[in-house]
Amino acid sequence: MSVFENREFNGHELVTFASDEPTGLRAIVAIHSTALGPAAGGCRMWPYATTDEAITDALRLSRGMSFKNALAGLPFGGGKAVIIGDSRRKTPQLLEAFGRFVDTLGGLYITAEDVGTTTADMEHVAKQTSFVTGLHRRSGEFGGDPSPKTALGVYLGIKAAAKFRWGRSEIAGLRIAVQGVGGVGYHLCRLLAADGAVLRVADVRSTAAERVRDEFNATVVPVESILSEDVDIFAPCALGAVINEHSIGNLRARIVAGAANNQLAKDSDGIALQTAGVLYAPDYVINAGGIISVTREYFGGASEAQVNAEIHGIADRLTEIFERSRREDRPTNVVADRLAQERIASASRRLVA
Ligand code: NAD
Repeated sequence: MSVFENREFNGHELVTFASDEPTGLRAIVAIHSTALGPAAGGCRMWPYATTDEAITDALRLSRGMSFKNALAGLPFGGGKAVIIGDSRRKTPQLLEAFGRFVDTLGGLYITAEDVGTTTADMEHVAKQTSFVTGLHRRSGEFGGDPSPKTALGVYLGIKAAAKFRWGRSEIAGLRIAVQGVGGVGYHLCRLLAADGAVLRVADVRSTAAERVRDEFNATVVPVESILSEDVDIFAPCALGAVINEHSIGNLRARIVAGAANNQLAKDSDGIALQTAGVLYAPDYVINAGGIISVTREYFGGASEAQVNAEIHGIADRLTEIFERSRREDRPTNVVADRLAQERIASASRRLVA
């Protein structure tokens, strides 16, 4: 199938492919938009079954980054890289080859870690290009693993959603189910527990769930039942597409607010959530803490306090989306997409003028 005919092709500006035989690198960079600045977005490494599947993922994720960066008010457009392969087999040489590929784009695309790549991997990429962020924290500088910052944004977003839904400023006593307690989920549980939330957690890695049980007094529940737990809030922090035509009917939470990317299997699932009376915090708005963090690291000069203050803006943006959704009687995901498209279109008009 041609890229142009792919259902996820959305006026992307550039899609480019790299292969490096000695290291086995096969990678794709998709740039959705540079209207607001260079395209920024992480590098995912995944054993895609086919090239078409990898292209589709790169297209979908890069468009998502355009929207995420636009609504976070960052001077970046949206892009994403995918490396086709099993992340357990990656080598420093392959990552350096990827770095050389990124460098050939001359700054049009800035990379960082994503699913299947880590902060340590980005250090190898950085040997070949300066167009990379999400590196280890250097003394006296802000930076490093973005997961705690993503968790902070999700925590603030959950509070904003509870305020909008129930008019309550405190989350003490609220029952919250967290699906996936890895990098982001663990830190989210730490923040929620400190505020007195009652936690139920599930993770396919039992040690991760037990750690949260022991440290934050969470109840561990089976992976299969986390979505249908009798709770107030469901926080997906593992996989995408967990909200779908099959799962919505089982959902007992009244708010869905979590870190996972692409939580809705289809855009129309946002309508189903609205119809079911569930308030949905659009994923790319609530999980923007990490991209805010790596952006400030990339430009340098920001203190931790400044970055945290910027992440606090996520709560205001969500509240604006919730209010507009109620006013216009449209699902929150549709409202967020419209806002992002408006920002990107107005920047494009300025570029043309
Ligand atoms: P992670 O890999 O560190 O953690 C994910 C956790 O989910 C793991 O512990 C894994 O065992 C668990 N898991 C996987 N499948 C599961 C299942 N079916 N049920 C329950 N648990 C399951 O990833 P992360 O960095 O914490 O990111 C979590 C999600 O948030 C991902 O969707 C990611 O794309 C998204 N996200 C992360 C960041 C960030 O800063 N790390 C930023 C934005 C979005």
